[in-house]
Amino acid sequence: MKDLTQKIISFSKKKGFVFPSSEIYGGFNSCYDFGPLGVELKNNIKRYWWQAMRQNGNIVGLDSSILMNPIVWQASGHLTVGFADELVECKECHRRFRDDFVGEKCPDCQGKFTPSRKFNLMMKTFVGPVEDQASQTYLRAETCQGIYLNFQNVLQTMRMKVPFGITQIGKAFRNEINPKDFIFRTREFEQMEMQWFCHPKEADGFFNYWKEKRIEWYLSLGVKRENLRMVEVPKEERSHYAQRQIDLEYRFPFGWKEVEGIHNRGDWDLSNHAKHSGKDLKYFDQEKKEKYFPYVIETSVGVERLFLALLVSAFQEIKGGREGNAVKEEEIVLAFDKKITPFKAVILPLVKNKEEVVEKAKDVYRELASFPVYYDETGSIGRRYRRADEIGVFWAITIDFDSLKDQSVTIRSRDTMKQERVKIKDLKECFIKEFFLTG
Ligand code: ATP
Repeated sequence: MKDLTQKIISFSKKKGFVFPSSEIYGGFNSCYDFGPLGVELKNNIKRYWWQAMRQNGNIVGLDSSILMNPIVWQASGHLTVGFADELVECKECHRRFRDDFVGEKCPDCQGKFTPSRKFNLMMKTFVGPVEDQASQTYLRAETCQGIYLNFQNVLQTMRMKVPFGITQIGKAFRNEINPKDFIFRTREFEQMEMQWFCHPKEADGFFNYWKEKRIEWYLSLGVKRENLRMVEVPKEERSHYAQRQIDLEYRFPFGWKEVEGIHNRGDWDLSNHAKHSGKDLKYFDQEKKEKYFPYVIETSVGVERLFLALLVSAFQEIKGGREGNAVKEEEIVLAFDKKITPFKAVILPLVKNKEEVVEKAKDVYRELASFPVYYDETGSIGRRYRRADEIGVFWAITIDFDSLKDQSVTIRSRDTMKQERVKIKDLKECFIKEFFLTG
């Protein structure tokens, strides 16, 4: 299975999904860049997540800053609770232990430890020209803190009523001591987080509601149920803010690993920010005349981890090729769901040495250019189909000699390889119906 990870790493680079960062200087510490296909996939994943959240109703968005007043991280517990000790981290399972509490090997998995050090995950930086204690702050370790700080702003400007949610997508940074497994664990990553504010008495019900919703979302992207599991995290292993925690795990080639965390954060964040800021962050229910700190149910997923899970899930190697395909050895098909696939279609002139056919194909391309499509005229038609299948293109649209007469094209489907003749004038509508009206 390790082989598959290696295969996916080199495939990602070869096809323009993921490149090592600063490659010409030998790379940099588990940092990665997303290439032309990677950025399309990432954007599609984020768009679909945002859309799905919004469809739940009563959820609004936010884009808060990465740099914040450092007191935020005192209040949130990130600078104090659990991070202030001398720690060792197990190189295998990543559990961290107080150095004085354990022996040579991890009690859980017998893995080796990193050397002990004062360890804090927060990434320090300085704001302004003087690098002293007063100008020191941190790159955010999770996007949700910006949501709590704006809780009252959002309540007031949008006249929200509990229960409601706030979503945010953005970069987060953690000074991981052991980044590994390609883009699975990095020091810079993006999170998609939703914070659901509810009455404390309703928190358990909403926790279960969101757990189900999130599983449904993964299934709607074609991820197989048997490759997903939910693990209830016992009290002693939970994050410092969590009253209840479920890790949603995906079966990666390197084992079952967390992709998303679903947490009941109680009133940990709002009450601590109220304490540190001296501001009233309680919610007042006008009808019931009740004032309280809402509890927060959080769903938090890393974009890159999800990207990797979806890439693994879509990656199909078919020995000897699919039936009817002139492939001798191995065919690769990236069977991405059409909602997130980087390109929906490729426009192909059947031949490149017939001017009228090429011109017609370019006309079709111009007609569809506002959709995620590209144009390809290099190589035999079979080879171009293979190339498109390899990067998950959903439709291959071919313009041939007949197109000049009947003003029609052939649409070949990636998954069924079936071909269908469609009038050029109907193409736009076909696109809208296939890709934009089905969620
Ligand atoms: P882990 O146990 O793997 O370190 P975590 O439990 O600390 O993760 P959370 O704080 O719950 O993670 O963060 C929510 C999500 O953010 C995770 O499920 C993961 O998808 C993503 N995430 C967290 N840390 C990283 C990282 N270093 N690199 C990439 N994604 C990350």
